[in-house]
Amino acid sequence: MDKNKAGLIVEKLSTVFTDKPALNFNSPFELLIAVILSAQCTDERVNKVTKVLFERANTPEQMLSLSQNELEEYIFSCGLYKSKAKHILSACADLTEKFNGQVPNDVESLRTLAGVGRKTANVVYSVAFGGNAIAVDTHVFRVSNRIGLVSATNVLNVEKGLMKILNESDWSRAHHYLIYLGRSYCKAIKPDCENCPITEYCKKRIKR
Ligand code: SF4
Repeated sequence: MDKNKAGLIVEKLSTVFTDKPALNFNSPFELLIAVILSAQCTDERVNKVTKVLFERANTPEQMLSLSQNELEEYIFSCGLYKSKAKHILSACADLTEKFNGQVPNDVESLRTLAGVGRKTANVVYSVAFGGNAIAVDTHVFRVSNRIGLVSATNVLNVEKGLMKILNESDWSRAHHYLIYLGRSYCKAIKPDCENCPITEYCKKRIKR
């Protein structure tokens, strides 16, 4: 696929989907916590949990005033609650000790925080700070390969491939569009190709 066609796909998707995340947040810190909680959990569930949690704690200092057990009770329904609570408290300790209580606005620093991998760092960098980055989650991975935007077997190569074929100014919004496309039409099982908005551009569809 060439850059021109990739650009057309992004434009088409922009007419159907929003470029805003489905997670609710009011600060970079809230977004960071919400993204950590979203691992293997729906955004809908995370929003329910953070609505209550952030009333009690929405700064690193306030979060650290919770014990591991207390935090686990707040986030229990998100799943993986023990490791998520541990990561959140460790990340908050890092923020307090190394970053003056502020979420850093660069990917490298973000990635030094506990529980923050490449995907989470890219989401926070792009959504909270307006940086150009592509976070590759399971939807972006699957959909990008199906469409033919990339042909890659690991997350890093999908990210690199998308960075190459998409205009840099489109990276962040394309990330959101691909997630929404994966959730609504291009599902893992039985993709709805008949009604998909980019069916005319899709490699998987054209091959049939
Ligand atoms: S046409 Fe089908 S396979 Fe291609 S992006 Fe749409 S739903 Fe996915």
